[in-house]
Formats: sequence, C-alpha cells, structure tokens
Amino acid sequence: TVYLDCNATTPLEPRVQSVIQRYMEEEYGNAASPVHQYGEGARMAVETGRTQVARVVGARRDEVIFTSGATEANNLAVLGLADYGLATGRRHLVTTALEHKSVLEPMEYLASRGFSLTILPADSSGRVSAQNAAAALRPDTLLVSVMQVNNETGIRQPVEEIATVLEGHDAFFHVDAAQGFGKELVSLQHPRIDMISASAHKIFGPKGVGALIARRRGGSCPPLQPLQFGGGQEQGLRPGTLAVPLIAGFGTAASMAVRQEQQRHSACEAFRRQVLAGLQGLTYHINGDPQYCLPHTLNISLPGVPTMEAVRIVKEHIAISSGSACTAHTAEPSHVLHAMGLSEKRVATAIRLAWCHLTPPVDWPSVVQQWKQVMNKGE
Ligand code: PMP
Repeated sequence: TVYLDCNATTPLEPRVQSVIQRYMEEEYGNAASPVHQYGEGARMAVETGRTQVARVVGARRDEVIFTSGATEANNLAVLGLADYGLATGRRHLVTTALEHKSVLEPMEYLASRGFSLTILPADSSGRVSAQNAAAALRPDTLLVSVMQVNNETGIRQPVEEIATVLEGHDAFFHVDAAQGFGKELVSLQHPRIDMISASAHKIFGPKGVGALIARRRGGSCPPLQPLQFGGGQEQGLRPGTLAVPLIAGFGTAASMAVRQEQQRHSACEAFRRQVLAGLQGLTYHINGDPQYCLPHTLNISLPGVPTMEAVRIVKEHIAISSGSACTAHTAEPSHVLHAMGLSEKRVATAIRLAWCHLTPPVDWPSVVQQWKQVMNKGE
C-alpha cells in the first residue's frame, strides 16, 4: 500500500533517524546541565537544532521556542497574548474559517472569555482575501492569525499580502506554517510576520516536537505569557526538560528541507503529473484552485462515493484520508471545504491525496477501476 497521507504526517528521513538515535543512546545528557560533557553535548545539539530551524525562515536562533508541535505553538501564540490584550484593552482577534482546530479553538475559548472574534470567510478557490483582512482590522485588534498552507486542500493563503495590509497597524501577526514550513520558503521571510508555528513531523522529522518562532521586531518579541510554569527553559515560555533527540532530529529535518527544496518540489510536481494522468477517465472535481496549490496535495470529490467508502475501497493500493487526521475520527464533515462554499454532497465525497519526494509509484489503473465500480453501483 502506497502512503498518500503526507499532510497528516510524513515518514522519517533516514538521516534524521540516525541523529535521533545518537541522542537517545549515546549523548543522553540534559541540555540544562552543561557542567559535564553529556550535558554540554546535549546543549550543543539543541543550539544547533535551533539555528537550523531558525534558518528556514531567516530568523535568529534566539527567536525559536521549542514546543511539542504546532498544536502547542498555536496555543502559545493565541493564549499567550491574552494577558497583554486584557492589560492594554485590545480584545479583538482575527482568524480565518480555514484554520486548524488548534488555532480556532483557543480563539473561540478567548471569545467565550470576553474577547471579540472575527472569522474571515474563504472563497471557492480555497483562499481568504487580504481585502477582508484589511476590513476586519480595528484599533483594538490584538492578533491576526492566518495559516500559510491549508492542510486539507494544500492551498497557499495570501500571507504576504496580509502582512502588507498589516504594515502600520499594531496587531500581532501569527502564521500557522505547519504545512508550508520547509516547503514554501519565501512567504515566511516577510518581516511583518511576528510569530510562526512549525512542526517537525510534517517535514520528515519526528512527532512530538515543533516550534513557535517569535520574531523580535524592533528588538523585542511579542509580549507572550507562558502557558506552563517550571524550570524556566525556552526563555521561560516553555519550561520543561528539552526533548534533545527530537530537537536534534527537527533541526536535521529542517536543514534538509532547505537544502533539498528544489529537488523535492520537482519530485512532487512529477508525481502530481502522474496522478492527474492516472485519474484520466475518472469523473471527479478538484476542491480548491490548483493555481494556488502546493504540488504535493490534491483534494478531490468523487461524485456519489462517500468519503469513507472511497478510502476503504482502495485501501489495498493507497492509504489516503478525508482531510484532517485530527478530526477524521469524529466523521464530521470538513469545516474547511464547507467554508469554501462547496455543496454538502461535494464535502461528503471529498478525499485528500498527499504525497512527497519519497512516494513510490501507484498502480493508478487499479485504483481508478475500483472507484469506478462503486460510482457505477451508485447510479
Ligand atoms: N496546523 C496545521 C495546519 C496542521 O496541519 C497541523 C497538523 N495536522 C497542526 C496545526 C498540528 O500540528 P501538530 O501535529 O504538530 O500538533
């Protein structure tokens, strides 16, 4: 079975795996006890990882706060600003209907505690607009949070345009880059972006580690409050013993992503051409405008075939999913496709194919034949 669920998570790069193993088995010191060689080795591994992660977005090493993943980074970016908003009377938040739950839910939590929340709509291309973002801004807007690339559709959001709209406004700008970090490098370099969330396991690194990159515009980083308290690690913003092997693995994965960006991009484009050729003769609708899509994702609806049926029937050949792994178990229809204004039928028949530079060839004729069989049965 060929794994085509690379937006849910990616396989480990072998080089990343050997780095992780080294810090599990040999250099197992605590990065906070650099008084001996074990601790010193661990501390150096963490600082190397920090530099490698920072480099992906052109940030400085001291702007990286390691977390357990993008979920925690998103929570820290949103909830961590709440005290500052309360203290300064800035209680307005802006986000989009396309966000991952780890942005939407902390936003909604704050809305239930007296903040006001504007959720930007999306269009059928799968994007939000900078004009709508501009129109939503108020003098008391504290935070604008927009994802770089959507996890279900692979569609890039106009983060650079929104960054431009925010020039001259005080609102902090957070970008959930879980799906684009290390894949689409240019837009995250924009100097108006204050905070970026990233996750190692989407770029062939380990699960359980990520980062919030909090830029220091004019010398000071956003006024975040920690969500946990303890030993003061990560500038007091994320205390707890650092996950040295995971951080070293994340750093290696990040530097490989930068180095291999072109190569991976071309490999994904070539695979995409094979997918489109393979699906010829099948009736399907593409969800989202392909001109904005990264080359490793294709979200399609197969008329008359419910998502779970479409997934199950081709299980022998390809491993795919409905869209978001985090909400897949609830069997709820996708809030992302719904926000794009797609019909109930289209949403209920959507599947996501997501590959990477390591994906082997797929037996498309067999896959298409099985989908066609269920489609014909439904008629
Ligand atoms: N944001 C987006 C857009 C994602 O796709 C994901 C992963 N599904 C997350 C956040 C959460 O990342 P993590 O698994 O690292 O918590």
